[in-house]
Amino acid sequence: MTPELPAAKRKPAKPTTTAQKIENKLARLGLHTDMDLVLHLPMRYEDETRIVLIREASFMGGQSVQVEGLITACEVQYKPRRQLVVTLADETGQVTLRFLNFYGSQLKQMAEGNRVRARGELRHGFFGPEMVHPLYKMVLEGAPLPVALTPVYPSGDGLPQTYLRKAITSAMARINWRDTLSPALLEALDLMPFEAAVRLLHNPPPEVDDSALEDRSHPAWVRMKFDELLAQQLSLKRAQVARRAKGAAPLPVIGALSLAFQRVLPFALTGAQQRVLDQIRHDLQAPFPMQRLLQGDVGSGKTVVAALAAAQAIDSGFQAVLMAPTEILADQHFRKIAGWLEPLGIEVVWLTGSLKKKAKLAAKERIESGTAQLVIGTHALIQDDVVFARLGLVIVDEQHRFGVGQRLTLRNKGLGLSDGLDPTQIVPHQLMMSATPIPRTLAMTYYADLEVSVIDELPPGRTPIVTRVIDQNRRDEVIERVHVAALEGRQAYWVCPLIEESEALQLQTATDTHATLSAALPDLQVGLVHGRLKPQEKQAVMDAFTRAEIQVLVATTVIEVGVDVPNASLMVIEHAERFGLSQLHQLRGRVGRGSAASVCLLLYQSPLGQVAKQRLGTMRETTDGFEIARRDLQIRGPGEFLGARQSGQAMLRFADLETDQWLVEQARTVAMDLLRDDPVTVEMHLARWLGAKEEFLKV
Ligand code: ADP
Ligand code: MG
Repeated sequence: MTPELPAAKRKPAKPTTTAQKIENKLARLGLHTDMDLVLHLPMRYEDETRIVLIREASFMGGQSVQVEGLITACEVQYKPRRQLVVTLADETGQVTLRFLNFYGSQLKQMAEGNRVRARGELRHGFFGPEMVHPLYKMVLEGAPLPVALTPVYPSGDGLPQTYLRKAITSAMARINWRDTLSPALLEALDLMPFEAAVRLLHNPPPEVDDSALEDRSHPAWVRMKFDELLAQQLSLKRAQVARRAKGAAPLPVIGALSLAFQRVLPFALTGAQQRVLDQIRHDLQAPFPMQRLLQGDVGSGKTVVAALAAAQAIDSGFQAVLMAPTEILADQHFRKIAGWLEPLGIEVVWLTGSLKKKAKLAAKERIESGTAQLVIGTHALIQDDVVFARLGLVIVDEQHRFGVGQRLTLRNKGLGLSDGLDPTQIVPHQLMMSATPIPRTLAMTYYADLEVSVIDELPPGRTPIVTRVIDQNRRDEVIERVHVAALEGRQAYWVCPLIEESEALQLQTATDTHATLSAALPDLQVGLVHGRLKPQEKQAVMDAFTRAEIQVLVATTVIEVGVDVPNASLMVIEHAERFGLSQLHQLRGRVGRGSAASVCLLLYQSPLGQVAKQRLGTMRETTDGFEIARRDLQIRGPGEFLGARQSGQAMLRFADLETDQWLVEQARTVAMDLLRDDPVTVEMHLARWLGAKEEFLKV
């Protein structure tokens, strides 16, 4: 994982005044300017315009309703647990309000005879109709009802809706409302004017079609989505133009090294590998920087393609660098690639944070003097004192694991190579790799700026992985299965549950699991690898596993990325319901790499939630990474793809790439026209929608 803290977690300066405190809270929501506030649109609406009679409400099962009445009883009950139980009555019936967590002040408010307006889902409990934790307010008789839907804004802790609403209203009085789209364009695209759309969303009129507001199909929402997509397309296109305007040192030679390398490779490239290699070879010859994303499912063989690209850089007299997100992965790349290239006389240097001081210094010297032709390592590569002599090609593996800034820093290490040219305008070629497949719709929008190559074929001889979903209480059977597999000479991974809240707890679980399995399988060697081990210790365990001295490897998610031990054919994942789909897919991809039939057992703890059920079902049904990514997008939306955490601010907030694809196409066309004809509007639109966030889209 990247050491960069997401903005949300960065500690704000210690606030001294209430105003500052609020400012900090707003900043945490990404709200810095008046325009940010104005474009902070409701996530949903509450209907507080109607009071429903309690008897009527009893027939409206499942819906959220608002009732009003007088309190006829109020008591604290202690069974089955401490709770505040209030009886509310109107002239048609009564309803119980239950509060499981409550304050003393609430107890006071709920005095008999007081009038309450309560909103929530009315259910039929054991003692008649009840609402659990309704939203409520104390009112006087005849208190007016709002005439329109009430907006509910995305908010952080301790930032009340009423405050946000006020801040937004006053910001609306200050901003410049000028529409960035001409009346002619609005008409042609059948879009609502900007001001009318924004005002409607913040203050929906009583007669508005509320279902269209809820599902965001209302023209006002469409306008917002369009604007957002337009900003994104403008920004991406501009970045593309800027990139094209930069130069790069051409790497035209496919020479002795490239040819010898392909001769000694123990396998032939698949058709897909050859195709993407051809694309890369072609790009590298150009005098402007390649910016290519190499996508390929887990195990599709991206590494060798990267190594062949590096060979071309070396053949052309330049250095290449390969950066990976973890030590284990970097080490594995180093061994594999050095194993291929060193016998051919190439200097491959390894640089990670765990190297001893002296070794690190030596490595840096070789990089700076240029004797190192290929450099492989981790984040350590982007430190200030790592200077390259002639860096021509930057390769980033699992690119989505790095922050935008980190990728940029590495790229900048190759600035200014060609003599006589403006050094800030010469950058190395870039190859980014990812096994997290990005669905086409996403690639089109987020990577409109990149060339994308896809390895859509696995090397021959792989057997498909069978996936089973198994209840955790059948763990003993699973252990027995591991036993049998090991006795047949195969190896297994046992992945411990992800515990997001606490690394210490996660470690504890891994240690416990290791102890349990060691005891249950006394005739086997059970290893343990987790994030807290020193790199050397980690390496020793991985080596023993690679050499099959260990049959069962208990691991935390440190093995998620890229580990390659072909003899391992059994993958057990505990508490699989806690993992995301792409993570499960990555983990499963650790097996099925050899010729033995592989099995993945997903243990879960019941009861399963809806989303977890969908995820595990997807895992059982398909091993196709692209299909999995597509379903993942459906289940949780585009938020987390692409290492979006880092470029998260640039994420689409309103547009939905599944349903709004047609808008993407329109936005793209309009973006091209504006860039050609109307630079002023382009600036204004970008400032309005992206502000300072635009930088994040550029790399
Ligand atoms: P990934 O795309 O997940 O990074 P790797 O590059 O680690 O995949 O490749 C997975 C395994 O497949 C490695 O052991 C690699 O040597 C092997 N491999 C790659 N290409 C081929 C091929 N064309 N034929 C046979 N094996 C291959
Ligand atoms: Mg890989």
